[in-house]
Amino acid sequence: MNALSDRLQAIRDRITAAAQRCGRDPASIELLAVSKTFPVKAIREAVDAGQLLFGENKVQEILAKAPQLPANLHWHLIGHLQSNKVRKVLPHVKAIHSIGSLDLARDVDRIAGELGLFPQVYIEVNLAAESSKHGFSAEQLRASLEALYALKRLEIQGLMCIPPFDADPAKSRPYFTHLRELRDELAQRGGAPLPRLSMGMSHDFEIAIEEGATIVRVGSAIFGERTYQTAA
Ligand SMILES: *Cc1c(COP(=O)(O)O)cnc(C)c1O
Repeated sequence: MNALSDRLQAIRDRITAAAQRCGRDPASIELLAVSKTFPVKAIREAVDAGQLLFGENKVQEILAKAPQLPANLHWHLIGHLQSNKVRKVLPHVKAIHSIGSLDLARDVDRIAGELGLFPQVYIEVNLAAESSKHGFSAEQLRASLEALYALKRLEIQGLMCIPPFDADPAKSRPYFTHLRELRDELAQRGGAPLPRLSMGMSHDFEIAIEEGATIVRVGSAIFGERTYQTAA
């Protein structure tokens, strides 16, 4: 056992424990290992420890890393996506967590059609209305729902959020609760079931699980501290 596989196992154990504490099936929660800024070598160690699902926040990094790694890995894009990069990235990703506007959703739908793909997507909701972050406000999302559901190439999984960072993970809980309640409300309206919630990072993923996360995005707790920050 090396340090990375130990850390990965520790996160898996904590996911299982958090799920059991709140009466959820641990198998209903996916671990997205966020490998942004880390080299292919580190990703290989995680693969050797059984991890197949990886998240990156830059198109360029996925394009650089994916060809050097086994083809059976699944890549999720979790960072902001510019329309002019959709065509490049779509063939390499299983899911996009950062559909933060109707314009982007339409571009992804159109280009997925041209490429013959059906990408899984999460709608990013900017619950704190932070100007530094992308995403729909709850109000915009309610107003855009029909237009989003009309995009037949998008396999809409559910909602995603990135709460404002606070060293105290308890501060994330109200955002996670809000995202789940918004999902419940929208699912109730019909049109799409929205079964999934992408929420929770290294410092607050257990709270996210308690609030209904189905995929947690964990980077530094697996790979170590990042030596430089990339834009979220
Ligand atoms: C970097 C990043 C993560 C992982 O953050 P850690 O604190 O390293 O776990 C999760 N989600 C998004 C959108 C990110 O950009």
